Amino acid sequence: MNAIVIDDSSAMRMILRRTLGGLGFQVLEAVNGRDALDKLDALDDVPDVALVDWNMPVMDGLTFVRELRGRREYDSVQVLMVTTESDAHHVTSALEAGANEYVMKPFDRSALVSKLEAVGLPSAAAAG
Ligand SMILES: [Mg+2]
Repeated sequence: MNAIVIDDSSAMRMILRRTLGGLGFQVLEAVNGRDALDKLDALDDVPDVALVDWNMPVMDGLTFVRELRGRREYDSVQVLMVTTESDAHHVTSALEAGANEYVMKPFDRSALVSKLEAVGLPSAAAAG
């Protein structure tokens, strides 16, 4: 399983990298939406899941999700918004843009696992 973590916080990227790595994911990191699109376009394989922060410089998470969902080659990518923006307006906007699930910061490992399972990622990865 391959994941891309998109967050301008190096601390948050490290937390997600460690958690996902422990679940058996190979993890690519990007510092904003633009960086993520550039890195995805350079890959041969489409990742299984993208974990996307909301507030980032250059290109924020909502814009990234809209850009990603405008590109058919990324239809299979499961998108999890991982953010402190928890009000209904933000959640609705993200889901309408094409995000599959919403993870509130701060989160623990079990919360992340249940969201990964909710988007159909194999329980074998989650069990690791
Ligand atoms: Mg941020």
